[in-house]
This record gives sequence, structure tokens and C-alpha cells, in this order.
Amino acid sequence: MNNVSEIKNCYGCGVCSVVCSKKIISIVQDKQGFYAPRIEHLEQCTDCGLCLKVCAYSHDEVANSNTEPQGYAAWSTDVDVRRDCSSGGVGFEIGCSLLNEGYKLCGVRYDVPTRKAVHYIASTPTEWKDSMGSKYIQSYTPDAFKAISRKERFLVTGTPCQIDSFRRYLRTFNAEDNFVLMDFFCHGVPSKLVWDKYLSECEKKIGRVSSISWRSKERGWHDSWAMKLQGDKSEIQHISRRSQGDAFYLLFLGNQCLGKACYAHCKYKALSSAADIRIGDLWGTAYKDNKEGVSALIGLTERGKLVIEKTEHIECVAHDMDTVIEGQMRHQLSYPVVMRPLQLLLAKTRVPIALQALLSKYTNKLKSRLHIP
Ligand SMILES: Cc1cc2nc3c(=O)[nH]c(=O)nc-3n(C[C@H](O)[C@H](O)[C@H](O)COP(=O)(O)OP(=O)(O)OC[C@H]3O[C@@H](n4cnc5c(N)ncnc54)[C@H](O)[C@@H]3O)c2cc1C
Ligand code: SF4
Ligand code: SF4
Repeated sequence: MNNVSEIKNCYGCGVCSVVCSKKIISIVQDKQGFYAPRIEHLEQCTDCGLCLKVCAYSHDEVANSNTEPQGYAAWSTDVDVRRDCSSGGVGFEIGCSLLNEGYKLCGVRYDVPTRKAVHYIASTPTEWKDSMGSKYIQSYTPDAFKAISRKERFLVTGTPCQIDSFRRYLRTFNAEDNFVLMDFFCHGVPSKLVWDKYLSECEKKIGRVSSISWRSKERGWHDSWAMKLQGDKSEIQHISRRSQGDAFYLLFLGNQCLGKACYAHCKYKALSSAADIRIGDLWGTAYKDNKEGVSALIGLTERGKLVIEKTEHIECVAHDMDTVIEGQMRHQLSYPVVMRPLQLLLAKTRVPIALQALLSKYTNKLKSRLHIP
């Protein structure tokens, strides 16, 4: 059929459900803990093919516009913003600047009750604050993407695969002129099953979690793979660091629990993008002693370069592209060692083994992979 019913293990970007005029595509969590499309009433499909047309997974090429990229190291001049964002806070400042120009913003916040990362729409700087800081799980897009009017001006942010499909959607309706699209260098999205299990184990110690920061910079930006959780049993915030063996970060950054598409079908490493602007952490040697956080900032289209030029409250230092993308993943990911046993375990409702115990089983393999002494 001329629809997405045959597609398996895709990006879960949700754009097929947005474009379907019959509203018969839902986005649901699959058995591995990733979003996937499900056609609810196949008999109502009119074979229009729009869902396939907008689907980045079913096209080999990326929906980009070829201009010479311009790269910067950049950071917010507001110390509070820089502290609370994952790298230098440029994503937040670009949003605020576009708000001043009359744009609405679509980004990702964390929903505590459902334990989900969800796309949402912000119309004020206060609402936009919820987007600060990366949430390292796959976000649920359909509700927010459906609420975007193609006649209004919007900044839309997301993973590169989400943005590639969204660009195709806009192109289908000749609506690109109203939009600025921003993605980031993307390591991959971890399984929601792993996140749920991790959180349940933390909650046994600290009670129901009421707030989360995924990147605490208390020990500086380079040691900021640190989950800061506030639970209702304890006044004290619980901080768990990758450098001290945090199970979630070891599985995530050790590439052990990502979506199948992240291993086999990611077309978006280094500078491959359908966005106007790409952001990320500027790892590498140039800012190795920086403690506050530095963003990599890349203008990929003329529109993106113009937005960067006009953004207020950021410091920008131009660099060659090798410096800007140093330390980023450039190739397909290696085969996951823990993924299979982990999935089998987490698919059961009651899991007898703790993530940490599972990890120690594979510790040596993981340690050598992650270069941890
Ligand atoms: C799953 C994931 C993997 C990443 N992998 C890398 C990587 O390999 N290398 C790298 O340099 N940077 C990566 N990043 C980006 C990095 O964490 C920072 O977001 C980036 O450095 C920009 O930081 P900032 O300080 O400007 O803004 P931040 O305040 O961190 O801005 C975050 C922006 O990302 C959006 N966002 C947050 N969570 C999600 C989500 N789950 N899905 C979609 N959009 C989201 C928000 O809407 C916001 O606009 C990743 C981010 C995510 C969410
Ligand atoms: S990649 Fe996105 S558009 Fe394509 S089938 Fe999956 S959810 Fe739908
Ligand atoms: S790693 Fe690639 S496929 Fe996976 S979420 Fe990121 S952009 Fe999408």
C-alpha cells in the first residue's frame, strides 16, 4: 500500500500522523520502548501517499539546501542561562530572539507525571524556559506538531530525523518560508524502557521524582553527564554521574540502548542535516578548559545564518568546521553488546535484576569502549 504500514523500526518522528488528513495514524510506544506509527483504520486509507512523502526514513537523501555552512563557538551572555542549559545555551537564546520577532517556538520539555519528553509550543520566554537542557530520551511529537499552524511563523527544534521529516512536510505545502528549523548533533535516543527502569530504581531511594536536570554543571561542563533528581523523600538533590558509573549514562553513551534506526539508518552525523541551524556541545581541544559550557553553532542555510547574525545575548567566535565538529560522531554506531539481554529483561513487567547489576556483568567490555580507566 502507498502508506507507512510496512515500515518497521523507523525514526518515530510522528510527522506521518500529522500529515494524514484521515487522522488514522497513531504514534505508539513499541515493545523496545521507541515510538512507532500504527495505522488504526487501514480500510479508511485513501492511498494518497502523503505519509510516505513526508517520511524521512523512507528517503535515502536528506532534505537539505546546499549552502556553505558557517561554524561558531557560541554561548549565552546570561550566566544563569549558560548554567542551566546543556552546553552554551544558544538554543535558548535563538528561541528568545525569534520570539521578539513574532515567532512561536516548538521545543521539548519533560513531563514529570508521564515520565515522557514531549514537544510543546511556547509563546513567551517563561514558557520557553521548559525547553532548557537536553532530555536524553525520544520525544513525543504529534500533539505539538499538529498544533502548529503553517500560516504562522515558527521555530521548530528536534532531533535531525524529526527535523528532516518536518522539512519534507513543510515543503509538501510550500510553507518553508514561515519556519526556522533547528536540530543538534545527535548521539541517538535511548529506550524509554531503560529510562523507566532507571527512574524506578532511583525512586526507591529518593521517593517520587518531582524534577530532573540531565546535565548538572556543578563540577563543570566537561563532567556534566550528571543526572540531578529531586525526590519527595529527600530534601537533598540526588546527583548521579557518568564519571562515577551512572547506569543510565553508561548505557546511553556506551551505545547500548538506542533505537534500531540510530544504529542502522542514521543519515545525520557530522554536517548532514535538513535544518537551518545545528547546535551541539563544542567538545574537542579548543575549549577543553572551559567550565561554563560552549555550544557548537552552525548556520546551514542562508536563513539560518541570518538568524544567528541577529540573535542577541550570545557571544560568537568563528571557527573552521574541523574545530566546531571535533569530538562528534561521524560514523554508524557499533553493535550493542547489552541491548539484546536488556530488551528481553525490560520487556517483562517485573524485572528482577537492577540496571547496575546488568552493567557490572558487562563492565569490562563497556569500560574499554568508553575509555574509562
Ligand atoms: C537525544 C539527544 C542526543 C544528543 N546528542 C548530542 C551529541 O551527540 N553531540 C552533541 O554535541 N550534542 C548532542 N545533543 C545536544 C546537546 O545535548 C545540547 O542540546 C546542545 O549542545 C545545545 O545545548 P544548549 O545549551 O544550546 O541548549 P539546550 O538548553 O540544551 O537546548 C536543548 C534544545 O534541544 C531540544 N531538546 C531537548 N531534548 C530533546 C529531545 N529529547 N528531543 C528533541 N529535542 C530536544 C529543546 O527543545 C531545546 O531547543 C543531544 C541532544 C539530545 C536531546
Ligand atoms: S519515520 Fe516518522 S514519518 Fe516515517 S513512518 Fe516513522 S514516524 Fe512516520
Ligand atoms: S541518532 Fe539519528 S536516527 Fe537516532 S534519533 Fe538521532 S538523528 Fe534520529
